[in-house]
Amino acid sequence: MIHVGIGYDIHPLVAGRKLILGGVEIPHPKGLDGHSDADALMHAICDAILGALGEPDIGHFFKNTDPRWQNAPSRVFLQEAARQVTFHQGRLINIDATLLAEEPKIAPHLQKMKLNIAEALNLNVRRVGIKATTNERLGSIGRCEGIAAMAVASVDLPE
Ligand code: MG
Repeated sequence: MIHVGIGYDIHPLVAGRKLILGGVEIPHPKGLDGHSDADALMHAICDAILGALGEPDIGHFFKNTDPRWQNAPSRVFLQEAARQVTFHQGRLINIDATLLAEEPKIAPHLQKMKLNIAEALNLNVRRVGIKATTNERLGSIGRCEGIAAMAVASVDLPE
């Protein structure tokens, strides 16, 4: 039986932080703020996978008050999401995600992001979709105050 899940995440852009998206460190004057490495793309994908399983969101598995996850690479969270798929005797079919960022340009980094995510999930890279769009200068994302990501995942689960 095919299950789908949806995920969304947003983090503020601040000075003095690295900008990490899809496990790629992108040169930029600001980075995303958060307890972990604040990789909004990986977080949205985690929640999409967990949603397909009927599990709670990633914050349930990795408390943002736990010092173990301070500045943690979000690959760890993706690996846990993949472990949950196995625990449910499921098989991840594909994920698809969209980044919402006014700047910097994301396109040059998309392929590396896909490879990082595919590796963390033990999934063929052809099953990982990532797109990026600006917010057409509208709202907080349009003012470069933050970067958001949305994702869907499909998982084949036993009936
Ligand atoms: Mg997050």
